[in-house]
Amino acid sequence: MAFIEIIDEYKRYKMGDTVIAANDGINFSVEKGELVIILGPSGAGKSTVLNILGGMDTCDEGKIIVDDVEISKFNNKQLTNYRRNDVGFVFQFYNLVQNLTAKENVELATQISRNALDVDEVLALVGLSHRKDNFPSQLSGGEQQRVSIARAIAKNPKLLLCDEPTGALDYNTGKQILKTLQDACKNTGTTVLIITHNSALAPIANRVIRINDAKVRSIEVNENPIPVE
Ligand code: ADP
Ligand code: ADP
Repeated sequence: MAFIEIIDEYKRYKMGDTVIAANDGINFSVEKGELVIILGPSGAGKSTVLNILGGMDTCDEGKIIVDDVEISKFNNKQLTNYRRNDVGFVFQFYNLVQNLTAKENVELATQISRNALDVDEVLALVGLSHRKDNFPSQLSGGEQQRVSIARAIAKNPKLLLCDEPTGALDYNTGKQILKTLQDACKNTGTTVLIITHNSALAPIANRVIRINDAKVRSIEVNENPIPVE
């Protein structure tokens, strides 16, 4: 069995009398340690998949298996534990605590996690040692996103889930963030999933899953992903 297995997963939202099929029979698998890009236009159903995989939402039907555990059978308490210990999240707009320094933001995440890594080492890994005592408002967008990546990987998660991590950044800063994510994937062995609408990102991934209109349209395995410079 693969590290992640999503089997016949369905998620519908009711809006008054209309039902929206956000995920309409999603199937894919991911191997441990891969960097995966989930690609598709806005409204395709990408965030729904990511939220379900991260234990932030539950599916209506289907099986979600992570590291041999069926998380789609979890109760709320098990989901909370899973989110705290097994999953790191990176968002488009960083979501840092504004009155805590970079280092304190990372420490906060490690306090509620079982397997936490050394905070200074993780800050060094993302190239932010010299900025650790700065507050978010004193950091550039790219630096703030590196704090948020440090915060996510400091939990030593099995999975790192990133929702449009370069979406708010200019081209060169976005490239640095993708390099940071690619390095984190290599250096920590964490499996990284990135959702994006930007097909230019595809060449850096081990696996590209295209989603459109609530279904998986293609899956490409890339034997030689391009290292981001
Ligand atoms: P993407 O991340 O690819 O932009 P989403 O997974 O966010 O797509 O959304 C898929 C579909 O589900 C869209 O039509 C969206 O409007 C709908 N949707 C997502 N979340 C909700 C929600 N909480 N309530 C109602 N509809 C939703
Ligand atoms: P724009 O924001 O002007 O639409 P692009 O769509 O070209 O620019 O790129 C958007 C994001 O994709 C940027 O954050 C950039 O870092 C990233 N990106 C695009 N192409 C590549 C590539 N070949 N390698 C790494 N990152 C890329």
